[in-house]
Amino acid sequence: MSPKHSEHIRLFIPGPVEVRAEILEAQAEWMIGHRSSAFAELYARLQPKLQQSFFTRNPVYVYTSSGTGIWESASRCAVRDNRKILHLTCGAFSERWAEVSEWNGKQVDVLAVEWGQPNSPEQLAEALRRTEYDAVAAVMNETSTGVRNPIEAYAEVLADYPDTLFLVDVVSAYMGDKVPTDEWGIDVCLTSTQKAFALPPGMAFGAVSSAVLERAKQVKNRGYYFDVLEIDRHHQKNNTPATPPIALMYAADRQLDDILDEGLDNRFARHQRMQQMAHEWVERAGFELYSAPGYHSVTVSNVRNTRGIDVGALNSFLKKRSMMISNGYGKLKDKAFRIAHMGDTQPEDLEVLFAAMDDYLAQEG
Ligand SMILES: *Cc1c(COP(=O)(O)O)cnc(C)c1O
Repeated sequence: MSPKHSEHIRLFIPGPVEVRAEILEAQAEWMIGHRSSAFAELYARLQPKLQQSFFTRNPVYVYTSSGTGIWESASRCAVRDNRKILHLTCGAFSERWAEVSEWNGKQVDVLAVEWGQPNSPEQLAEALRRTEYDAVAAVMNETSTGVRNPIEAYAEVLADYPDTLFLVDVVSAYMGDKVPTDEWGIDVCLTSTQKAFALPPGMAFGAVSSAVLERAKQVKNRGYYFDVLEIDRHHQKNNTPATPPIALMYAADRQLDDILDEGLDNRFARHQRMQQMAHEWVERAGFELYSAPGYHSVTVSNVRNTRGIDVGALNSFLKKRSMMISNGYGKLKDKAFRIAHMGDTQPEDLEVLFAAMDDYLAQEG
């Protein structure tokens, strides 16, 4: 059995990414009841592998949602009603998370920087000296701008504030760029499956510290679906509060084995090699990176469209060769374009992509 019902377009977009046929096929298992011992075994089998890849001793919860669900869970459970959360924003995703906190009725302060720039640890330190916060929320890899934020520097600042929880979105970094959750003191480290993990979309993982559970006990209205206390109660029994995406969990089980076989360090090194290839292409083709020097994402390159090419036409050209990249995000449409080099994408795949892009530029550019 193989996925052959539709045309195969190799995705170099920052999610969903290309999923290997073996992983798609791993989902095609007979269903099991989610209150069965077979399910508890599947759940328990994922745990140590997830903890290893998050570099954490904290439990890693399985959420039946995309990453956005854990934004809601973290914002809602880690911040008390009369306290504040500080959001570091530098692009579309970090801005949207701040909105999620607001929509959940939290008091939100925002520290924003210009798109393309990283959030500054000095600004964070200054804000923390001024105001007491229940939590600080940051995005490690801002997928809309291609910026990799200095999470390790924020961690150093936050070390002086043990009562301020550190919530980090590692959605497009995890499994491509190393995320040492415990070393950085991250209290909620969240990701979803369709980025560098290279699974189909629909599931998310959150490594959650006991400090978050203690905080949640002081929050009256945590909702139900994303309540960390309810999730933790089931987690203790290798279970989930509601029906989980069992097929995706089969795929995760297989993918985690394959990733650990490749070796996490090898996987990170492969991503760095691909980042290097992307940077070389950008320079060779006469473009520039949108992200500030020193803060380039390892998993996605946001390319400033300095040559004024027709990004839509480029993608139509690539489609004829069964490939696809991504236009600029939101207000960056046509002003930039993004090449994702994450997940199970190999350097050889990028060579094919860049050769095709060179062909397009030679012909049209
Ligand atoms: C894709 C993305 C999200 C949104 O995640 P979903 O899984 O689509 O909910 C959040 N943050 C970042 C940095 C992303 O790249």
